[in-house]
Amino acid sequence: MHALRVCRGVCFVKTMSHLSSSRPESPESAAYGRGRRSPQRSLIAQGAVAFDGAFTVDELLSCVRESDAKIGSATVYRAVSAMVGHGFLEAVGERDGHALYLRCTDDEHHHHLVCTGCGTVAHAPCPLDDHAIEQAAAQGFVVTRHEVNIYGLCAQCLRHGDAR
Ligand SMILES: [Zn+2]
Ligand SMILES: [Zn+2]
Ligand SMILES: [Zn+2]
Repeated sequence: MHALRVCRGVCFVKTMSHLSSSRPESPESAAYGRGRRSPQRSLIAQGAVAFDGAFTVDELLSCVRESDAKIGSATVYRAVSAMVGHGFLEAVGERDGHALYLRCTDDEHHHHLVCTGCGTVAHAPCPLDDHAIEQAAAQGFVVTRHEVNIYGLCAQCLRHGDAR
């Protein structure tokens, strides 16, 4: 049985005061830029920040519904897609057919190790080297972007044996 990765009783009030004290920019302006804002979108951005690993839209929905039971899944889907478009969230592959998202603030190029048991994410160095780029060029391609996600089970999930 896999526990749904809701935000583990994260206190929204605490999250919000942490954000307002450490960042001059509000989470919604970082999340949506000039895009549409609303109190629900603000709550969704705060919910995304409260996860310390990868999450699905459904998990984010359960999380924000703890604070506003009226938020619908379409609203969360649109907000997540706006946040991905604005670079606030990153798509990091999928789990059981559901896309996984992550709030990663490290600007240096890297990839992610994603635990399929609990959503814990670790950084991984880029496995592509010059050879891979040369191979593409030899076939007439100019590489503009690439995606690498590495899946596995974190040490804690391995210890607890709740592999799936
Ligand atoms: Zn990262
Ligand atoms: Zn894990
Ligand atoms: Zn890379």
